[in-house]
Amino acid sequence: MSLANGRQYLAIPGPSVMPDRVLQAMHRPAPNIYRGELIDMVATIIPDLKTIADTKHHVALYICNGHGAWEAALVNTFSRGDRVLVLGTGRFGVGWGDMARAMGIDAELLDFGPSADIDTSRVAEVLAADTAHQIKGVLAVHVDTSTSVKNNIQALRSCLDGAEHPALLLSDNIASLACDEFHMDDWGVDIMVAGSQKGLMTPPGMAFVYFNDKANAARDHADLVTPYWDWRPRIDPDYFYRYFCGTAPTHHLYGLRTALDMIVHEEGLPAVWKRHAVLAEAIWAALEVWGQAGPVRPNIAEREKRSNAVTLVSFGTGNGLRLRDWMEHSYGVTLGIPLDALDNQDDYLRIGHMGHVNGHMVMGVLSGLQAGMMALQIPHGPTGMEAAMKVIAAAT
Ligand SMILES: *Cc1c(COP(=O)(O)O)cnc(C)c1O
Repeated sequence: MSLANGRQYLAIPGPSVMPDRVLQAMHRPAPNIYRGELIDMVATIIPDLKTIADTKHHVALYICNGHGAWEAALVNTFSRGDRVLVLGTGRFGVGWGDMARAMGIDAELLDFGPSADIDTSRVAEVLAADTAHQIKGVLAVHVDTSTSVKNNIQALRSCLDGAEHPALLLSDNIASLACDEFHMDDWGVDIMVAGSQKGLMTPPGMAFVYFNDKANAARDHADLVTPYWDWRPRIDPDYFYRYFCGTAPTHHLYGLRTALDMIVHEEGLPAVWKRHAVLAEAIWAALEVWGQAGPVRPNIAEREKRSNAVTLVSFGTGNGLRLRDWMEHSYGVTLGIPLDALDNQDDYLRIGHMGHVNGHMVMGVLSGLQAGMMALQIPHGPTGMEAAMKVIAAAT
């Protein structure tokens, strides 16, 4: 029999769960896109987006997904033939580099594999060897959603500074923004990209490109820039219609306004980060105990290198696939598939724990996984749930 009927829970790493309030805010007639309420509302959204990234610099809003934000960041910064260093720690870092290459950028990949973070000593070697400063940008992913690794972006900045290298530092925070702690200006990030559908709890379809003045100066010489992706009119439009190079994403903006109210003005960003950290710790505590008597292994061994937004875990040969299937069809929870950075894909599943997620949701997923392991006779340490409960009890 199946116990899946009831409210379904899509626990994949984006699109994340959208709060009912966000969805309700979108359920309304279209506003005037030339004057009035919508224009005033966008003026309030921009400072809140900057608060979430902890930056005083610029943010351009786009109607697109994360891949669009990647392209926007690249076209405003580089020219055909420019050399960039791509730091691969999974599918997304590598993919951003592939996109750059397809655009005519000379993208050199330094690949750290699917289970490790960026090794800054290797980055330092490459930068030191580039005495002519041909490398114009370093592309990194803060949290690579495919492997669930969290890279130390601050250490990358130290690496660039240590080599006295002028390359721009670009960070993909599509998975991590408003989940894992981040300080764009303090950490010396020149360009950061994010999307609406992960930590920002809004439907897919909007993306954000943050940039500082140094990056904006690079825009003067970037020969890849095209009218739609040009970030200049999007930060200083001569009239509102130019903000979005056409019609604004009216309903997304209403949803986003509500999501920002919840994150910035109600719960508060530090509390949002803390909630993500505790829920992630509860997940890891359960995984650790299960793994003491079975094949359960988080992909990233060291906790401080794991993201608080997503966890990739192996349950042993073929068991990721079997458990995902059981969770969806017998229990009502859809978990994330592994992405193609890994061998033995069927061993893995991804748990999305980003955005509008609380104690009972995470505990519900974990209980399901433990019940699923019982049902499928996958060996595991029996007190995993107990360990997760202890984390929750201690934190509250
Ligand atoms: C989701 C994600 C992307 C891709 O975003 P899309 O909206 O699917 O285009 C890129 N990078 C990271 C780190 C992501 O998590």
